[in-house]
Amino acid sequence: MARRQTDNNEFMAAARNAGQQLAAAFQPVVPFLMQAGASMAAYTVGLTGAQVAGMALRVSCATPVAGPIGGLLGVGVASAMAGQASIKCRQYLKDGTNPLLHPWKGVRTDDLIVDALLGVALFKVMGGRFRSVMPSDLVKVGAIARESLPAPSVEYATPASRIELRRLFSRDGCHHCGTRRGKLIGDHMPPNKHMQQTVGMARRSLLRVPFVKPLASALNIPITPPRQRFYPQCESCSQKQSSAVRNNKLRMVFHETLHRGGKSQAWHFAGPFLGLRHYTGTVGGTSSTATSNRGGTGYQRRS
Ligand SMILES: [Zn+2]
Repeated sequence: MARRQTDNNEFMAAARNAGQQLAAAFQPVVPFLMQAGASMAAYTVGLTGAQVAGMALRVSCATPVAGPIGGLLGVGVASAMAGQASIKCRQYLKDGTNPLLHPWKGVRTDDLIVDALLGVALFKVMGGRFRSVMPSDLVKVGAIARESLPAPSVEYATPASRIELRRLFSRDGCHHCGTRRGKLIGDHMPPNKHMQQTVGMARRSLLRVPFVKPLASALNIPITPPRQRFYPQCESCSQKQSSAVRNNKLRMVFHETLHRGGKSQAWHFAGPFLGLRHYTGTVGGTSSTATSNRGGTGYQRRS
């Protein structure tokens, strides 16, 4: 009986020891993963917030100048948020301070600026498109649009075109909202009604004046309407688009923030990349490298 008790005690001690060794082995990974996760979450929230701001200010991905600038500012803010989330997470791991109690305490302007600038550069280098951060305008080419097919007429897509559009829809999703679910629509861009208006206006006015057409062609001035193309679209966006075109109203839709598709999705990870800029590899100030306490924030950084 006594022997059995001793065996049990030895087994428990060995298990405890193994557990401690495992915890010690994985301990450095936990802050790394937590900081990466916090910055990824903050980055996604920031980019979604930029899309909400675009919607409120009526700036879409197709708005000239304001669209790309809005996207660039959105990426900058989201990147600064990603950096701060990582710093707050590190502080929490170090001293258990709840970062939500004093969210602005210890926030350093130079961190915000450097993260925002680095984030904008990383976003571009990693294949992001600034205008695609903004919501989609349903009567223009959407934020998710990557590839399209020529649309020879205002008629519906031919069976051969539909096969190709189906491939684009499953690869990239609806060009306005990004969904890959539901019925596929071959969306004419520009919309048929806009084309008819453009053609009508052109015929009524300029093109009837003698020599205008050859002169414009000689000067390389486009006077004929742009050729239409087919983009893959979902049924819901198609219905909303019909009413927007019919009523001649600006109608915008949200798209998936971190959409899977296109040439590169590496930019999804620009946020965690920035967050890990603030990873020191240690928790509790036990770093073997020289550290400095900057700006009275209490956190430490590898110098
Ligand atoms: Zn859609």
